[in-house]
Amino acid sequence: MGKAIAIDGPSASGKSTVSKGVAAVLGFIYVDSGALYRGVTWQAIRKGVDTKDAKAVLETMHSADWDFFVQDGAAVFSIDGDVPVQELREKNVREAVANVASVPEVRKFVVDSLQSLANFGSLVMEGRDIGTVVFPDSPYKFYLDADPEERAMRRYRELVAAGEDEKAHEVMDSLKKRDQIDTTRKADPLTVAPGAQKIDSTSMTLEEVIDLVVGKVRGNV
Ligand code: C5P
Repeated sequence: MGKAIAIDGPSASGKSTVSKGVAAVLGFIYVDSGALYRGVTWQAIRKGVDTKDAKAVLETMHSADWDFFVQDGAAVFSIDGDVPVQELREKNVREAVANVASVPEVRKFVVDSLQSLANFGSLVMEGRDIGTVVFPDSPYKFYLDADPEERAMRRYRELVAAGEDEKAHEVMDSLKKRDQIDTTRKADPLTVAPGAQKIDSTSMTLEEVIDLVVGKVRGNV
């Protein structure tokens, strides 16, 4: 059985960059669990379903053909033969995903899918509930956080770099809204998993955070 490193934390806490870096150093498979919630949301939107209609969202989710595979060191999925990547980052998906992810049946489907990825090998999985729900028995659990202003600034820079025309204060508002939904929802809210190591990355470099996680996993720290 391979290892599963759980890296949880709020939006724009640096989870993706850190998780990809750790996976590259250790040669583990990188998994972006949020992409699955975004995939369920994207599928509903392209089928013309109202994402607030949980029943309709579940129907589109269950009737789709999902396939998982590993490509360039990362877990990837196709939905009805299509592999959405850029589409998952678009505004319509971004704005609806936290609501879709609060539907318990959606979470069950995603959690089951994420757990089955362990068959591919050792994983570095980033998300909100990886240490609490998906791999609660993993000895390698981390909770990454940073000050809200720093997180909003990081996300803003990412969006601008991606060519999106967004205002800094709007990014801050949308981040707060998402934090609020993610931490207060009934189904698997974002919390620090028992036994997780908390890392505040506000004034740390990316390399420092990666070294800390890798060191822990290798048992050197
Ligand atoms: O990580 P990312 O921003 O792509 O996640 C998108 C949304 O998916 C989050 O705002 C959250 O609502 C949901 N999510 C979740 N549990 C996870 C990963 C993501 O609820 N493990």
